Amino acid sequence: MELKFLGAAATVTGSKTLIHNHDSGYLVDCGLYQGENWLTEKNKNEIDKDIIKSLLGVFITHAHLDHCGYLPYLVAQGYSGPIFMTEETKKLVSIVLEDAYNIMEKAHLENKIEKKPYTQDDIAKVISMINLKERDILHKHENLEFKFYQAGHILGAVSLWLKWDNKKVLFTGDLGRTDDCIHPEPQVCPDDVDAVVIEGTYGDRTHPVDDSFSKFQKTINHIREKKGVLLIPSFAIARSTVVLKKLYDFFQEYPTLKLKIYVDSPMMIKALHAYEQYSKELKIKSQEFLAILGDIKMVEFPKDRKKLMKVHAPYILLSSSGMLTGGRSIEHFERIAIKDYNAVLFVGYQGVGTLGRAVIDGQNEILANNKPTALKALIENILSLSAHADQKQIIDYLMKSRIKDATIFINHAEKSAADELEQSISSKLKNRVIKVEENQNYQA
Ligand SMILES: [Zn+2]
Repeated sequence: MELKFLGAAATVTGSKTLIHNHDSGYLVDCGLYQGENWLTEKNKNEIDKDIIKSLLGVFITHAHLDHCGYLPYLVAQGYSGPIFMTEETKKLVSIVLEDAYNIMEKAHLENKIEKKPYTQDDIAKVISMINLKERDILHKHENLEFKFYQAGHILGAVSLWLKWDNKKVLFTGDLGRTDDCIHPEPQVCPDDVDAVVIEGTYGDRTHPVDDSFSKFQKTINHIREKKGVLLIPSFAIARSTVVLKKLYDFFQEYPTLKLKIYVDSPMMIKALHAYEQYSKELKIKSQEFLAILGDIKMVEFPKDRKKLMKVHAPYILLSSSGMLTGGRSIEHFERIAIKDYNAVLFVGYQGVGTLGRAVIDGQNEILANNKPTALKALIENILSLSAHADQKQIIDYLMKSRIKDATIFINHAEKSAADELEQSISSKLKNRVIKVEENQNYQA
């Protein structure tokens, strides 16, 4: 059996790994490239027709767009077999694909893209091809055996263990952190393996000490004193839930600082409802999750948006996208960030080339109503809310796994992160470590 990395090699998006034996194959994840132009341009490259014809199945580890967003492209290119995932992932995948389609449709109407690579029918086909599989049970498809294990990270996320062609391979998928406040700890795979494909997003980092309370305190005190609004641009899936849990805990500790929280993002609201539906899968009790939701007001309909504009400050407003790359957070940012009585709190990594990154890096002017306008709001950034395991957590995971002589493949990592992770693994384990390269074939 051979492994071929069609994406996420020396980068953190576009996850697509082919396992094949020259006659047939399976795809593990089917993600979109995101971020800078040179990456998103790669989404235009179609997958080789012979590869698509040879595919017997597709596995999706979780519902982030960089792991599932290429599914409608694959179907538009002729794939018609099964797509294996958990029930919770299916719920989030349908939300994520619909949102991605709406963004693409808007770009098409604005003549930013010439031809749509897939249609809404292709999304419907994807959904109809999904084959739900439970975690912790041995499943079979043709001559392949596989199991899903809890990966933490986001609702429904799994690691995939599979046995095919006399080889056993573990794909960790994106691993969550052991100290996540909402998502369960990743489960170490108990099965023997000949090869491990591990993600290395944070392979060169150690998570900083939790700075969320100190940043909440600073920004909330600011808007309470000046009667302003605190805008929190946040990723719609998972991150928003973590931020709301942290805010809930903060107000439990500082009840006199409590403020109303509004959520204005259709995708974030759908994701929160999905988390509510599957709250039994979370680390916290269902009752506590309901209490968190009970504290917020969802801006769901046009009438709610009109009301929001009339709400007396101070209050907190969550909106997506988290890096100010689209969605309602940009509209709110243009209105909120130009007043000195407001505050903006970023809650995670801001990609190069995004407005969020520019603001964090000190850009002090934006175009508001097409006029250059000074940014005057208090700007802060929480650094401790990553949803990925850090270097120590990745190494601990590997050391607890039954990897014996298995080859360790590092994918889903920028080059510097992969380099450092490789060194760190080699200093603690004797296994062969390979930093994967795009479109290279490797023996499992
Ligand atoms: Zn992810």
